[in-house]
Amino acid sequence: MCPTTEFRADLHCHSTCSDGTFTPEELLREAQAKGLKGLSITDHDTVAAYETAIPLAREMGIELLTGVEFSTTVKEQSVHVLAYGFDVQHEELHAFCQRHKERREERNIRMLESLKKGGITIEVCELAQDTHAIGRPHIAKALIDKGYAKDLREVFTEFIGGNSPYFVKTSSFGLEETLALIRSVGGKAVLAHPHLINNQGLVDYLLQQAFDGMEVFYARMPPHKERPWVKRAQKRGWIQTGGSDFHGTVKPHISLGCSWTGIDSFNALKQGSEISC
Ligand code: AMP
Ligand code: ZN
Ligand code: FE
Ligand code: FE
Repeated sequence: MCPTTEFRADLHCHSTCSDGTFTPEELLREAQAKGLKGLSITDHDTVAAYETAIPLAREMGIELLTGVEFSTTVKEQSVHVLAYGFDVQHEELHAFCQRHKERREERNIRMLESLKKGGITIEVCELAQDTHAIGRPHIAKALIDKGYAKDLREVFTEFIGGNSPYFVKTSSFGLEETLALIRSVGGKAVLAHPHLINNQGLVDYLLQQAFDGMEVFYARMPPHKERPWVKRAQKRGWIQTGGSDFHGTVKPHISLGCSWTGIDSFNALKQGSEISC
């Protein structure tokens, strides 16, 4: 990324608290190295990163916006919802994240049982135990480490991808419940990477829901692909956000800050947040 004095904030990245490979501290250092002025760490279904990230960001002079990427199930399909600018201390938020953790643990056990029936033994204790949102990427890593598969692609095609023999379907919480939770903890709800949803009926439905914003700039998406989403956001008066969806070394082609959010959208998301970091 070219050095710039412009305010840029990457509002979508994952730490070791979920399935990223950078710790929250490493993410903040990387953000500084890339010249980003703002950051939101949006781990899957957990806000654990903020315990260390808040004091450190303050020390480093990086504007940190609280964030999380919630998994939801809409019309039996997985839809990701980003939440920003909420009170990270709120009890209701922690209770909701705890429910997600239990939901994931239960699904992981079922997936390991499914693998065991196929003669593949992975124990729960072999999955990243210091992580707050253990999911398929961690099972994938264990399968590769134990020599069952050579890379992620093979894991997701042969073992635990949606159409693979050991996949176990899980239902997350609904959109209505998730949006209500985000509102009650003072946050704003943003529809994540809508261009990745390959069901037009579902997209049409989502565009009618009560989001505050939409992630229209994403990873290395070319500008001509962004444009229709920018128009859809403008039409609805939604905040337009951008982020890289950086996961560290597991997705080496994506660098932190390759998509970003400008000052106006950043401030709109921050507005009214009870704790601004
Ligand atoms: P989970 O939420 O536990 O079902 O895991 C979903 C995560 O697995 C996604 O957020 C991706 O990071 C990862 N994932 C899903 N499909 C693939 C794939 N084909 N290749 C690599 N990673 C994948
Ligand atoms: Zn992820
Ligand atoms: Fe996502
Ligand atoms: Fe993500």
